Amino acid sequence: MRRAALSALRGWCAYCEADRDDTVQVAVIERGSGPPHGLRMCLVHASQYAQTRHAPPGLAAEVTRLWNEREEPAP
Ligand SMILES: [Zn+2]
Repeated sequence: MRRAALSALRGWCAYCEADRDDTVQVAVIERGSGPPHGLRMCLVHASQYAQTRHAPPGLAAEVTRLWNEREEPAP
């Protein structure tokens, strides 16, 4: 199954513990009961997380792509 491309959305950064405009889902937390929920981080922290061994494969490339998209000039 192909992973859906990530996009940067407004959400809660688990590291900043604050609302940010540019969060990406870096992991899905499976709990013993209840539905899994997504762990989101802002791009700065997502790129740091992507360097750790906990990061899913491909996350670093996705975060790099999102950074590059942000650097494109606004229309
Ligand atoms: Zn953050």
